[in-house]
Amino acid sequence: MQRIPFDMDAYVQRVRSGPCFICEVVANSGSDGWHEVVAQTDDSIAFLCKYPTLPGHVLVAPKNHHEHVVRDFSEEAFLQLMRLVHRVARAVEATLEVERTYLLSLGSRQGNSHVHWHISPLPPGIPYREQQFHALMAENGVLAWTTDQAGALAARLRTALSR
Ligand SMILES: [Zn+2]
Repeated sequence: MQRIPFDMDAYVQRVRSGPCFICEVVANSGSDGWHEVVAQTDDSIAFLCKYPTLPGHVLVAPKNHHEHVVRDFSEEAFLQLMRLVHRVARAVEATLEVERTYLLSLGSRQGNSHVHWHISPLPPGIPYREQQFHALMAENGVLAWTTDQAGALAARLRTALSR
């Protein structure tokens, strides 16, 4: 899938001034056609990334607005969130050709503060220098995809998750 340039300045402006996008996804799941929800539990939710740099990029977050990836969670709550990360990552690997699965939690107190985990699958054949951080940075372009493609991917992931 081709990458297209990403307007980083507009994105930064949006995430630093707008409401929490994860709380919005939790409140109105799937309503924008991009953040398709693929799985959820009582406490956590998994949905497609709107600006993926790799096909199959899913975000997993607690439904409540926690900001610290470790200290806002009891050990049990942390492990429950990781159980959903593991389940969804297995479904991604069962759905797409994946050479390596990247898992990471980033975010900032200054924007996108709601804790979330990235599941980002590296397809086979990417040159070494274009893997890892290079593959994940929107500064290197985001995938040119449509809400129809997002809907189709979400359906395939839901099917894999139901097995
Ligand atoms: Zn939030």
